Amino acid sequence: MTPEALAPSDALPDTLVDVAVIGGGAAGLNGALMLARSRRSVVVIDSGDPRNAPAEGIHGLLGNESTPPGEYLERGRAEVRQYGGLIVQGEVASARADEPSADGDLRFAVALADGRTLTARRLLIATGARDALPQIPGLAQHWGRGLVHCPFCHGYEVRDRAIGVLATRPMSLHQALMFRALSEDLTVFATDGLEIDAATRERFEALGITLIEAPIEEIVADEAGGIAGVRLAGGEVVAREVLTTATELSPCLDGLEELGLALEDLPAGMGQKIATGSAGATEVPGVWVAGNAADPAAQVGASAAGGALAGGHIHGMLVMADADAAVTAHRARTAA
Ligand SMILES: Cc1cc2nc3c(=O)[nH]c(=O)nc-3n(C[C@H](O)[C@H](O)[C@H](O)COP(=O)(O)OP(=O)(O)OC[C@H]3O[C@@H](n4cnc5c(N)ncnc54)[C@H](O)[C@@H]3O)c2cc1C
Repeated sequence: MTPEALAPSDALPDTLVDVAVIGGGAAGLNGALMLARSRRSVVVIDSGDPRNAPAEGIHGLLGNESTPPGEYLERGRAEVRQYGGLIVQGEVASARADEPSADGDLRFAVALADGRTLTARRLLIATGARDALPQIPGLAQHWGRGLVHCPFCHGYEVRDRAIGVLATRPMSLHQALMFRALSEDLTVFATDGLEIDAATRERFEALGITLIEAPIEEIVADEAGGIAGVRLAGGEVVAREVLTTATELSPCLDGLEELGLALEDLPAGMGQKIATGSAGATEVPGVWVAGNAADPAAQVGASAAGGALAGGHIHGMLVMADADAAVTAHRARTAA
């Protein structure tokens, strides 16, 4: 998907909106859907680069099996617009808490990279996560096609093929067992001096998994641009059709640093996420986070569900703020 796929873009309103949703993937759009259906003014600002963009189809998502990611999001945008939500193509370059209103309601100033600005009462951050790949020459070009990371997303599609696991950390050894459930032809390449204990070696032997403990020089491509194999430091090429590796994850936070959102380490050296509490609420008043930015293990369904939960919670909090403001105004009127 390209940012152009988001065209036509709605115009950014110059009036205060209830909620600015930053990021228009599954999480942001489902959050916006809940808010728009609750008659909230909501604007989704999206730069159009969802994490699964390289994938041909979404798998493991009931009712949407094999739907191309771009088509799924296009339907989501239409559903949000159906209830009056706006979808704006653009990249948020800064977001920060602004001076509250006279009656104490929160305000956020959002600026886009092209200079446009927006003021919102609450923020939903749904910017997704980034995957950092191991630094192996020739590897990155295969991401999302011959190089896969998730047995649930695309494991079935690579079943029974010659799979290589680039094992960079202890978690990769579990990943190897997950892919062994999909193919009997599995080779694990232990890189970066990864230590392998006796129990793991015995499991691999019992399951017929080949273990290679040698530095990798490069990934060799075939003539069609697919994966041909893994070249070891000595020059030998081990033929493989598919590779899998664990990535290092980090939330997409470019331009959002001023909000001061706290980060949390993921288990097993998998990277970081934004720290969230119930329904995606954060310790920064008025800011919620949903989807991969809050949980990079969440697939599309879980990300959408997280966005819906956060959207519902934001509306609930705004209902209370609106009721309190009405009471204050009512008292002022009746006291006069
Ligand atoms: C290769 C691959 C294949 C996958 N396949 C599957 C699958 O088959 N099934 C499945 O369930 N899951 C799959 N996943 C996981 C899936 O990608 C995520 O679950 C999902 O994308 C998370 O949704 P999200 O809304 O949190 O983030 P994203 O979908 O990543 O959306 C975030 C959006 O925010 C935008 N954004 C980021 N920063 C800014 C900013 N500053 N301003 C404006 N916009 C911004 C991005 O451009 C993007 O459009 C796959 C992942 C990968 C890497």
